[in-house]
Amino acid sequence: MDDKTRLIRAGAAPEPLARTVGPPIQRGSTVLMPYAGSLYSHALPTYGRQGLATQAALQDALATMEHAHGVTLYPSGLAALTGALLAVLQAGDEILVADTIYAPTRRFCDHVLKRYGVGVEYFDPAAPPEQLVGEASAATRLILMESPGSLSMEMQDVGRVAELARARRILTACDNTWGAGYLYRPLEHGVDLSIQALTKYVGGHSDVFMGSAAGRDAALGRKLNDGVLHMGWAVSPDDAYMMLRGLRTLPARLAQQGANGLAVAAWLKSQPEIAAVYHPALPGDLGYDLWKRDFCGAASLFSIALKPGPEPAVDAFLDALELFGLGFSWGGFESLAISVDPQLKARRFPKDYGGPLVRLHVGLEEPADLIADLRSALDVYADAVG
Ligand SMILES: *Cc1c(COP(=O)(O)O)cnc(C)c1O
Repeated sequence: MDDKTRLIRAGAAPEPLARTVGPPIQRGSTVLMPYAGSLYSHALPTYGRQGLATQAALQDALATMEHAHGVTLYPSGLAALTGALLAVLQAGDEILVADTIYAPTRRFCDHVLKRYGVGVEYFDPAAPPEQLVGEASAATRLILMESPGSLSMEMQDVGRVAELARARRILTACDNTWGAGYLYRPLEHGVDLSIQALTKYVGGHSDVFMGSAAGRDAALGRKLNDGVLHMGWAVSPDDAYMMLRGLRTLPARLAQQGANGLAVAAWLKSQPEIAAVYHPALPGDLGYDLWKRDFCGAASLFSIALKPGPEPAVDAFLDALELFGLGFSWGGFESLAISVDPQLKARRFPKDYGGPLVRLHVGLEEPADLIADLRSALDVYADAVG
């Protein structure tokens, strides 16, 4: 054979792989089929778009963690939310969405779902489950929750909503990014679809995007799978490997970061410049009882309300922080802060949090160092408020 042909054929069929701790990173769009008869038999994977060995290993691990029947992967957390909604909704349906939902999810509901004839209503997460489900219409197909809401931390009785919704044949879904599929397992509380941005705690290093949706039963698992097939989502095996690697240390990181976060939150509560701390795992928080009942640990994302002051003073506080980076996203090993108020303007049920809201994500730094950093920044805030 010619050199060109030999080059095309060379190195294509490795010996059986040595056994490593992690799965192989299997790259491939084309899958070579053994016989002509297998091309259309649907018995074997025929194409790489829906994932090969590496993605399958991650799906399997996530299904084990969430006790799910079928987990699908998406190129981002937002894509997991939009993909799961598109997989189960159709024109004429209505969905009820927690007013505290992740802002880009709200943007999708308002700009895309409505355009395709799906009605969108927002509900106050503080509404009792009986009232919330009672207000559902005959067209209501799904209730989308996020508990706690990732900006202002309101908790919901997700299990009770799921139970009441089921009796009315309404599906429930939960954005469980705070619970990371580990601290909280919505499917065990009767929720139909558990969705999370793996980008956050599972990835854990602020350097890769991915999302997952987990179905409570096999029929929902198939629906999610069909949704991915129809929409053409694909995630790379390298990214799937990174998520699987993150998953191995998820419990250890969450335990440490959760404890660090609680130490910082408890300290903040006693500072004179702080009007309120919103952290569901902090005793005295409005969501504490639900957190204690449903969660097996605390994540490290929470919010504080500063005593009232003008916006430039809040910016001065944030700019004075040295260990907390200013950045959206969270779940990595490093501490972050953002001001929240600009994101609250879209809300249908505005609430007085007691002052400007700042969201903190606590990483793996030593809490005493973070506390010292916050103390200096609070001094700057106090000066700026005057
Ligand atoms: C970040 C986030 C998402 C979206 O995840 P991406 O991977 O950034 O698209 C969804 N829900 C919540 C609560 C988030 O914090």
